[in-house]
Parts: sequence; structure tokens; C-alpha cells
Amino acid sequence: MTRVVDPASGDVVAEVVGVGLEEVDAAIGRADVAFASWRGVAPGERGRILRRFAGLVDSHLEELARLEVRNAGHTIGNARWEAGNVRDVLDYYAGAPERLTGRQIPVPGGWDVTFHEPLGVVGVIVPWNFPMPIAAWGFAPALAAGNTVVLKPAELTPLTALRLAELGRDAGLPEGVFTVLPGRGDVVGERFVTHPAVRKVCFTGSTEVGTRIMAGCAAQVKRITLELGGKSANLVFADADLEKAAATAPYAVFDNAGQDCCARSRILVQRPVYDRFLELLEPAVRALRVEDPAAETAEMGPLISAAHRDRVAGYVDGATVAFTGTRPDGPGFWHAPTVLLADSPADRHWREEIFGPVVSVLPFDDEADAVRLANDTEYGLSGSIWTRDVGRALRLARAVQAGNLSVNSHSSVRYWTPFGGMKRSGLGRELGPDALHAFTDVKNVFIGTEE
Ligand code: NAD
Repeated sequence: MTRVVDPASGDVVAEVVGVGLEEVDAAIGRADVAFASWRGVAPGERGRILRRFAGLVDSHLEELARLEVRNAGHTIGNARWEAGNVRDVLDYYAGAPERLTGRQIPVPGGWDVTFHEPLGVVGVIVPWNFPMPIAAWGFAPALAAGNTVVLKPAELTPLTALRLAELGRDAGLPEGVFTVLPGRGDVVGERFVTHPAVRKVCFTGSTEVGTRIMAGCAAQVKRITLELGGKSANLVFADADLEKAAATAPYAVFDNAGQDCCARSRILVQRPVYDRFLELLEPAVRALRVEDPAAETAEMGPLISAAHRDRVAGYVDGATVAFTGTRPDGPGFWHAPTVLLADSPADRHWREEIFGPVVSVLPFDDEADAVRLANDTEYGLSGSIWTRDVGRALRLARAVQAGNLSVNSHSSVRYWTPFGGMKRSGLGRELGPDALHAFTDVKNVFIGTEE
């Protein structure tokens, strides 16, 4: 039994019974049986069911968003975006089944054709920071490609995933096609890795657990997609629109209280404008509205748990604090947005993923220095480049080792463009036009035509 807690108040909002090993095996067995018929459902019909699912998410958008505010402490504005993202991802991949075409390749003596075959049962393991979108990025393309799905939400945030499973059933997904299994990582998640009927694992979470999952999946040559940690750089050059760069930098790291794998948590500023940038950043950080996440005006809510808040606070102890924003008093797991000055790139807060509302700032000298410092990390998920020099923007966009970069912007995620990490930030890509192929294997068939 897991107690689900509202991070803004500390109150228990629900109790969810985690499933045990026997139940996981039974659910995977049902998913395996359902695969045989789901893959055979006509492409247009599979698309129609997913479109109906998207429609039901849309008509329950406010309910889902409010549930996420209570369960994860997300601001209501963010939570609405997240539920809308589930709808959009379902809608986007609802158009995929009829377009999942193979090739005809010219060969002598016959015909050669390829098919994109679904894999079987896909296990999706979701973290607590974006419970709805990350679930959908796995289950929507997996279902569209003809797989069945078992999904494990994070222990702390199971409520929206359970509701989405109900909406999927209401939309007409047959029994066993999409099953949500709340429970422990080392029980339910681990079983997705070891059960031979699960043919692919999509994992989003820490690099530490992801590495173990990769090793476990190797034993069965099981397919994997890994979306792991990040320590992304926000590079601000002296010729940039400094006002805009400073005004947007807080949102690029403090959104979702910094519990975002794409958080630009290292700000690198070219030395001649370093002081000016900090002068402009300070009022922007102080003005950030950190308040009850259910309030329409909220820009940042609490952290997910007391333990996580304490872990985040541990990075601030002993560090050089430039300035902080505000936080409400009273119950709940709050931490004020905090700007730290790095003494050197060896500082712990500069190197490790904090996953909270803490950002570190460091000056750099020139373009080469900026690239060196940006790439001096084991991670490679995201990042931003602020400059008015087009040539430099293009050079930097190629030189920074990260899967998702933005120039004069902090955008990372669009459901129709690819998303994922380089280096220890992950393996494979989600979303966009190619993600579907990560849920299929290519089969080549030769048909001899000689008499
Ligand atoms: P976590 O790795 O502790 O847990 C993630 C999920 O894995 C949870 O559902 C958990 O129950 C499960 N799990 C734990 N141990 C397991 C095991 N032995 N076998 C199988 N499953 C297991 O991570 P978290 O603390 O929930 O999430 C925070 C991390 O996620 C951060 O490092 C963050 O950067 C990362 N993240 C990455 C992305 C991305 O797209 N790259 C997105 C969101 C979060």
C-alpha cells in the first residue's frame, strides 16, 4: 500500500495498492494473449480507437490536470499542458497505423518486400516528474504500431496513469492491450526486464537505474529506449539579447520546480556581460510566482517529497548563493528558486543533476571555452544558445553534444519532433515521425518468381 501525498500540503490524497509479482506475471500473460489479436486489428480501426482515446483525454482534460496538481504539485497551467500533450501524442500516432509502410526493393529472381512488425508486449516505466506525458510518449506509439503495453507509473505519482488506463478502456481498447500496474520499481519494473514475453522496455528515470535496466535487458537482447538524466547548459554570449536571455532563464530551469530532465541548470555567461546578466536575472528570479500550484497565477509549485526537498537543499549548503526567489511558508515540500555562483567546473552543484530549483552560473571567455565547458559533463540531453551571430549559433548547435538544442529559445519538446539524449542521457529517440519504428522490427521477405 502506497500513500499518495499532495506535495503542496503534505496531506494524504489516496492509497494505492502496489501489485505483486504474481499479478505482474498474470498481466503480462494477458498482454501477450491480447497481442495476437491487437496486431491483427485493421490499421484504420486501430487508429480510430486511438483517436477516440485522444478525444476522451480531451474531454477529461481538466479532471486529469487537477489530479496531477494534487498528486505531483504541478502548477495548474503546466498540468493542463501535460494532459493536452497526452491528447496530442495519441492523436499524432493515431494517424500512424495506415502509414506504417514497408519497402519494395528491386532484386533479381523475385520480389523483395519489408514489413515493420510489432514487437509484442512493451513495458513502459515512468518517473514521477512528468507522469502523464512520459507515459504517453511510450504507450501511444507502441499501441499504434500494434504492440500491447504494460505500464508502471512511479510509486509517488500513480493517479493519472490509472485514470488514463480507464479512459483507454472506455475508448475501446480491448482487454489486456493497455494495462497500468502501480507498484515498486524493483518488483514491477524489474519484472518487465526479466519476463521473456516483454520484448521491449521504455525507461525514463535516473541514469543509475537506466544503466541497470540496460544490463538486465542485454541478457535477452531485449529492445530498450532510455531517457535519463541531464545537466544542460544555457550559453549566453555577449552579443545576445541579454534582456530576453535573462527574463527567460528562470523558466528554463525552475519550470516544474526544476524537476525536469531538460532543465538548463548550468548558465554559462560570456565574461564581459556576466555582471550585467546577473543584474537582469535577479529581478526575474525574485518575481517568479512560487505558490499554491492550484492557483491560476502559479509559476512554480513544491517539490515532489520531503526527502527530495532535503536532497536538493543539500546542494545549496556551503555553496555561494547569489540570490533566491520566494517560497510559501507552512506545510508542503517547498524550496525557493536559488541561483548559485560556481567557483569552478569541479563544484558538486555544477556537475551533478540536482533535479530541483537550483541553477549554477559560471563565466566563460570565448566560443572554444563555451563549447569545452558545455560538453564537460557525462550528460547530453538539452541546452540553449543565446547569440545574435547566425554563424556562431550554427557552429554551436553542431558542437554542443546534446540531443535537443534551442537557439534564442528554451524549447525542448514538441510531440512531432524527436526527443532524447546523447552520452549518458539516454539511448534512442521518442516522439516525432521516427519513434514508431522503435516499436517495430523490420522483416525482409523475398518471394521467388522464377518458374
Ligand atoms: P528513478 O530511476 O528512481 O525511477 C524511475 C522509474 O523506475 C520509477 O517508476 C521507479 O519505480 C522505477 N524503478 C526504480 N528501480 C527500478 C528497477 N530496479 N527496475 C525497474 N524499474 C525501477 O528516477 P526518478 O527519481 O523517478 O526520476 C528522476 C530521474 O528521471 C532524473 O534523473 C531525471 O533526469 C530523469 N528523467 C529523464 C527524462 C528524460 O526524458 N531524459 C525525463 C524525466 C526524468
